[in-house]
Amino acid sequence: MNIDFANLQYQYQLYKKEIDLAMQGVLDSSAYIMGDAVTSLEKNLEDFTGAKYAISCSSGTDALLLAMMALDIKPDDEIITTPFTFIATAETIALMYAKPVFVDIDEKTYNIDVDKIEERITDKTKAIMPVSLYGQPANMDKIQALATKYNIKVIIDGAQSFGSTYNGKTDSNLGDISTTSFFPAKPLGCFGDGGAVFVSDEALATKMKSLRVHGQSKRYHHKYIGMGGRMDALQCAIVDVKLKYYSKDLALRQEVASKYTKALEDKDLILPFIDKNATSAYAQYSIRVQNRDAIQAKLKAKGIPTAVHYPMPLHLQECFEYLGYKKGDFPIAELVSSEIMSLPMNPYLSDAEIEYITQKLLTAIKHWR
Ligand SMILES: *Cc1c(COP(=O)(O)O)cnc(C)c1O
Repeated sequence: MNIDFANLQYQYQLYKKEIDLAMQGVLDSSAYIMGDAVTSLEKNLEDFTGAKYAISCSSGTDALLLAMMALDIKPDDEIITTPFTFIATAETIALMYAKPVFVDIDEKTYNIDVDKIEERITDKTKAIMPVSLYGQPANMDKIQALATKYNIKVIIDGAQSFGSTYNGKTDSNLGDISTTSFFPAKPLGCFGDGGAVFVSDEALATKMKSLRVHGQSKRYHHKYIGMGGRMDALQCAIVDVKLKYYSKDLALRQEVASKYTKALEDKDLILPFIDKNATSAYAQYSIRVQNRDAIQAKLKAKGIPTAVHYPMPLHLQECFEYLGYKKGDFPIAELVSSEIMSLPMNPYLSDAEIEYITQKLLTAIKHWR
């Protein structure tokens, strides 16, 4: 068997007729930037998430920048976040000339450890930026309580978690500003780069709409230093079609995850843990194994691709040397990054494929005991 990790081609074939038609519509309209396709997607994103305002933008990375620009993050402001995430989370904080302040992760969810946040809050702390890693929101009750207590903002990096919930609300509808990414391999992906910010405050929404078009208030009049941060109409049209089927695709992802769990539990493996208040969009199904390199190689030889999200926590990255962290500062993030391994995950994995993957995995692991 040859397993496809994300199986994007299958999804395209599934919705090809409608996607092609939607793309042709944009081509025929000549409205390549902004216009109806953009407005339509934003309206449908608002309906889906329950967020009052959804604003599309050029990527999940730029969504984080827009959020911090809107909240007036200034040089030397501190933003508390997790070291166990994709680089964009902390990179954008640094791009704002603010300081990423890392806090170790929870051993079960791999999200920021909410019991370790308070001790890192200073009078320079302007925001907490939790990441909904692998699709699961962090403990938003505790994060929101701390934010209220210290009067700081919450920006959720929801690049991996579109459609996930915490206490029944989508994570696009939590925090002061929430973001997502439509990078092709994310749960809701386009055919290039794209993203969105979500907000309930009208003034922040207006500001972010302006910031994404160079801080423009009206044509060639610029109220803010902004950016070229729009999402192409063509990409909006594609996401708009996929969004119609997203509830179904998301349920299928969750079904694949529960089939994996059923096949692998009681096998002395560390499997994904989902908090009782949360649901996951399962951007990844990530387990922890010892001898990871060898197991990955064995699976690869059997036609099973795996991935590592992420092999090196951010506090140990060369680009963040100037922050002065060292090995041992965040032991759980360091341990998990050495053991974590993502199995193929997409809504279309068949029962036979899941059985094949889990059997080969269990065989590979047995060899090392
Ligand atoms: C993918 C990702 C991003 C960046 O999204 P892009 O659309 O690729 O810019 C940011 N944060 C996290 C956690 C991600 O996984």
